[in-house]
Amino acid sequence: MQRRCLTLEARPTPRRTAFGRALPTLAVVASFAALIVAPSPALAADEFEKHVGRINVVWGDPSPGSELAPLQVFHLTEETGRTFELEVSAALLRLHGGLAAWDGRLVEATVVPAGASEGVRRGTADGAPLRVRSVVFLADGTSDAARGGVSGSQPWVSILCKFQDIGSEPENLAYFQNMYANQPGGLDHYWRELSYDTIDIVGSTAIDWVVLPNPQTFYVPTPGSGSNANLGVLFNDCTAAADPFIDYSNGGSAFQGINMMFNGLLDCCAWGGSRFATLDGLSKSWRVTWEPPWGYADEGVIAHEMGHGFGLPHATNWDNDGNPYDTPWDVMSAATGYAVNDATYGRLGKHVLAYHKNDRLGWIPGAEIFVPPGDGSFNITLDHMALATTSNHRIARIEIEGSNRFYTVESRKRVGNYDGNVPDDAVIICEVDPGRSEPAWTVDSDVPPAGYGDNEGTMWKVGETFSDAAASISIAVTGETTDGFEVTITVGPVMIFGDGFESGDLSGWS
Ligand SMILES: [Zn+2]
Repeated sequence: MQRRCLTLEARPTPRRTAFGRALPTLAVVASFAALIVAPSPALAADEFEKHVGRINVVWGDPSPGSELAPLQVFHLTEETGRTFELEVSAALLRLHGGLAAWDGRLVEATVVPAGASEGVRRGTADGAPLRVRSVVFLADGTSDAARGGVSGSQPWVSILCKFQDIGSEPENLAYFQNMYANQPGGLDHYWRELSYDTIDIVGSTAIDWVVLPNPQTFYVPTPGSGSNANLGVLFNDCTAAADPFIDYSNGGSAFQGINMMFNGLLDCCAWGGSRFATLDGLSKSWRVTWEPPWGYADEGVIAHEMGHGFGLPHATNWDNDGNPYDTPWDVMSAATGYAVNDATYGRLGKHVLAYHKNDRLGWIPGAEIFVPPGDGSFNITLDHMALATTSNHRIARIEIEGSNRFYTVESRKRVGNYDGNVPDDAVIICEVDPGRSEPAWTVDSDVPPAGYGDNEGTMWKVGETFSDAAASISIAVTGETTDGFEVTITVGPVMIFGDGFESGDLSGWS
């Protein structure tokens, strides 16, 4: 049975998906969300338990072509180190602000103990999951996003872990060490470019192959399928096997992330997110990825999972199909689609969309963000996302009045080491709803929306205008520059049609 995923909120036709590309296959995924928000059988008060601990989220991304649904798993780690898997309904998640508000937080969760609820009991990473009925966020502990983003040096360590019964070493130590290089194609170079030097991963290193104490199927009952990889024991055993060779506290400038590179398949997926643990005396939420060999064959997959480690969710296109891998404008969606290819590291990562760079990671300085100061019509120049520095604007962010949603506007160009192969030069507009599983959706004017966001409807070009009439927002692309696009943003009940339509090109209006 597939681990339930939380991407099922209000999706009328969810379909199973493939990591890195869209597939036409449609399959119905049962809507557990409805089940969970429905009234449950009465339970006596003493059948509920309270657990205080740190919440961490991990994402599971199925291998390309597998047609499996993406996964999202919540863990709660108590002060004792005991870790539980939680079931959190989409409704409860949204009620408390969505993923960004949960990840990394210290909480008191009231749960239904396994076995006391409606027969929910599965083999999982850390034992049967506990269903969360309510949650109180304690003062201590906030997510990266709540702290204002991710900045400074973020050293990672790659640990190469061999299952006891598998002798192969798919890549050697130099491959993994050089993957962190500060040169085009290297991950230090990549994260510097994406963050405009807000972060680097200087000091990242790799530990040569170590052997786990157990065979593959001890950790992964069904290699290559299912969702039953024992993530907790994999983490514990892999970090322990490497412990003689690495000081996780790193002499006071601790590693921030751990990439675990396994020499065999896990379950369906490569996994990325965070995990609260004590390593070399240091207790904290570590950024963590679990990578099968296909994960480190394409650096774009590593970039995607490290992105989850930095707290990023998925982005998606406009077709509302439950597939979060179908927009090529963000490594957190189609990780390897329209990627630049590297002779050694395969398909590289791309840039991420404005919402991820700004709201989640804090990488766009305030002066580079255009926010309409009020109603009116505003002409701005948006330099493209891969440009190292800008004296113009980098993004626009337009609140949708009366909601917690907003639009972001950005320019993308086929230039640079990582965006060099995106579908075309264009303005990309996203509608962002922070409470949903994939907050940022790339807006598509096609009706119906395309199944994959590489279409002309998703690429806003000179002469085209996006309009949300209900929100009194329009975004017109009025010109192209060497480094970006000129855009006119109109907000409020201004006289868009005041001249009797004569100046309006309505062809791009929905
Ligand atoms: Zn993912």
